[in-house]
Amino acid sequence: MKKFAHFNITTLDEAVTLLRRYRGRAAIIAGGTDLLGKMKDRILPSYPEALINVKTIPGLDFIKEENGRLKIGALTRLEDIAHNRVVKEGYAVLSEAAHRTASPHLREMGTIGGNLCQDIRCWYYRNADNRFPCLRKGGGRCYAQAGDTRYHSIFGGSVEEGCIAVHPSDTAPALLALKADIKTTKRTIGIEDFFQVKVTKTTVLDEDEIVTEIHIPKPANGTKSTFLKFALRKSIDFPIVNCAVTITSSKGKVEAARICLNAVYVIPYRAVEAEKIILGQKITEVNAAASGEAAVEGATPLKDNQYMVQVAKTLVKRAILASQ
Ligand SMILES: Cc1cc2nc3c(=O)[nH]c(=O)nc-3n(C[C@H](O)[C@H](O)[C@H](O)COP(=O)(O)OP(=O)(O)OC[C@H]3O[C@@H](n4cnc5c(N)ncnc54)[C@H](O)[C@@H]3O)c2cc1C
Ligand code: SF4
Repeated sequence: MKKFAHFNITTLDEAVTLLRRYRGRAAIIAGGTDLLGKMKDRILPSYPEALINVKTIPGLDFIKEENGRLKIGALTRLEDIAHNRVVKEGYAVLSEAAHRTASPHLREMGTIGGNLCQDIRCWYYRNADNRFPCLRKGGGRCYAQAGDTRYHSIFGGSVEEGCIAVHPSDTAPALLALKADIKTTKRTIGIEDFFQVKVTKTTVLDEDEIVTEIHIPKPANGTKSTFLKFALRKSIDFPIVNCAVTITSSKGKVEAARICLNAVYVIPYRAVEAEKIILGQKITEVNAAASGEAAVEGATPLKDNQYMVQVAKTLVKRAILASQ
């Protein structure tokens, strides 16, 4: 690993000042479970000259309900979210998503802010020593397009440059299903606008912007939610596909539904057509399956990942049936 400066700062202002001073050559480090792996493997052509450790800022790890919203500090560890009673009881989809992320060790280190801001997991991109200087690193080609696409997008690539890597976060679809807002040092961003499909970045955050809190409106009475994940291993494995569903029912019929998938596209994917199938209906095996079909309408799987379409359909169906 190359040398870099390391700052243990105690305020967000200090962090922002340092980010501005280094102008894109510094990185925020929270749990470090994503960032340090990238640095150790030297996957990128250039490295941060400085790491700004935000874990030394007091008061950014909390979970509380306030004014009808659940508020979670960006530095809250995934393990704490998975086991928190309020989250389990009122926001089950998030508790389950946090619980299914990575392994117990990684959940003890990894934060919710880092989980949302983590980089993509394409195996060409992540190959050690920058062996594949692809589009996302400023290179001239996508190695996956002509290579092994087992774990790539089934809904097309990044708008600008054709990168077909998927977004790997487990908590992101849960937060999308829960209509979360992301608070930063500059603004509040609705989760639907937080991720982006530009090649070099996964979020809309500016160079000098830090996620500080996540706010989630309390789900309406009669809401049930479920997170399901298909991965090759039970632990320490990224999703092949994951699915987060929230359904609000009244008198046995669906009043509102949000169905979200991840690891299927460059950003977390909300399956709006799938939601329409069950709106106003009593949930049955038949319409849950139809909703699964609608969720993958328009999918354009690649030569190696057609199986992901079936996985996505099945997860949607099962998550709906589990949320009634
Ligand atoms: C073996 C392994 C398995 C894994 N499995 C999974 C999995 O199943 N599901 C999954 O979702 N993830 C998985 N991960 C990825 C990762 O561990 C988690 O996403 C974790 O939550 C990242 O959080 P962190 O605090 O460690 O992030 P860091 O590594 O500290 O940061 C990640 C990125 O986010 C930025 N960042 C961090 N905090 C902030 C902030 N507050 N504001 C702005 N930018 C910020 C950093 O600059 C960095 O670019 C896995 C990782 C490994 C190594
Ligand atoms: S899919 Fe994206 S990250 Fe992977 S090789 Fe292609 S451009 Fe690079």
